[in-house]
Amino acid sequence: MPTKNDLFILHDSVLFKLINLIREAHKIVICAHRSPDGDALGASLGLAGYLRRLGKSTAIIMPNPFPDFLKWLPGSNNVSFFDDNIHLANSKIKQADLIFMLDFSSLDRIKEMGNAVCESKATKIIIDHHLDPDMTAADLVFSYPSACSTCELIFKIIYQMGGYEDMSSKDAVCLYTGMMTDTGGFTYNSTSPVIYSIISLLLNKSIDKDRIYRNVFNNYSENRLRFLGYILYEKLRFYESRRASIMTITREEMKRFHFIRGDGEGLVNMPLQVRGMRLSISLREDTEKDVIRVSLRSVDDFPCNEMAEQFFNGGGHLNASGGELPFPLEEAILTAEKAIEAFKHKL
Ligand code: 5GP
Ligand code: MN
Repeated sequence: MPTKNDLFILHDSVLFKLINLIREAHKIVICAHRSPDGDALGASLGLAGYLRRLGKSTAIIMPNPFPDFLKWLPGSNNVSFFDDNIHLANSKIKQADLIFMLDFSSLDRIKEMGNAVCESKATKIIIDHHLDPDMTAADLVFSYPSACSTCELIFKIIYQMGGYEDMSSKDAVCLYTGMMTDTGGFTYNSTSPVIYSIISLLLNKSIDKDRIYRNVFNNYSENRLRFLGYILYEKLRFYESRRASIMTITREEMKRFHFIRGDGEGLVNMPLQVRGMRLSISLREDTEKDVIRVSLRSVDDFPCNEMAEQFFNGGGHLNASGGELPFPLEEAILTAEKAIEAFKHKL
């Protein structure tokens, strides 16, 4: 069994502060980053479950929708989206007395919703595992870049607050899902033994981890499989001497393969299956705004986050980062090639 030291991450004084803030709060809002992933959504649902068991009115508001392949997550149908009803979301954020910001730590990650959160008089708490948190964005910042996921942190905090016994199986499913998706099914960023102690505690809540894996990773359409095949065959270019690759995806191609939100998931990781590759860059025309969405993935010590900051108006983790470039795609390709050249000493 894990020891207290493995799972108790908050100092007593901070723990009591958090417990008091929750005790005094009547209306709580939980939000996570734009284009929520399994970790952002799982952490929000897991925390909401805990707070609702304490009798707190809790709303989850995301900037925009999560991918379709996460719709099976218990409770996800009660999540609302800022972009869908800005007026309602603004009023909930304004009326809240406590706001949790999960899986991000700078307001620009939630774009337009950031203003509403910034202006709200609520006490704000960040719980996150990204590098370089903006310490001014909230009243309390729980930043643990060594954690595999925000779900790991939410689990530990609930555990430390004494909420494990009453944790529901549904909440356990949500927290497990986030840990699993943020580590690619425990294939990266997942060497810390405490992760497996937590999994063991979650399994004791009768979750079916094999089924969760299938629900997330083997739940796509035929179109998605053919789309991957097409992109890998036609649209992926290797820069062998640089141990890097660039893939491109246009709106027209997404339309042709009836692309739905989430169909691109995991695609950017695939070039790294080739022996010796260290960096994969994906450039995709956004379907909502006239921007190119950039995704970066690397192995070992190649710093995607530095490249994303310097060339792609973004940031992220060492091995997984993202950003945005203006249209058109041809310009974005040139920028990506320049980035590869500029970082050749690290590739
Ligand atoms: P993805 O490639 O899945 O969109 O993003 C991978 C990671 O990069 C995310 O988990 C997040 O940490 C980071 N990221 C993605 N987009 C942005 C962005 O626009 N700005 C910043 N700062 N980080 C991003
Ligand atoms: Mn995360």
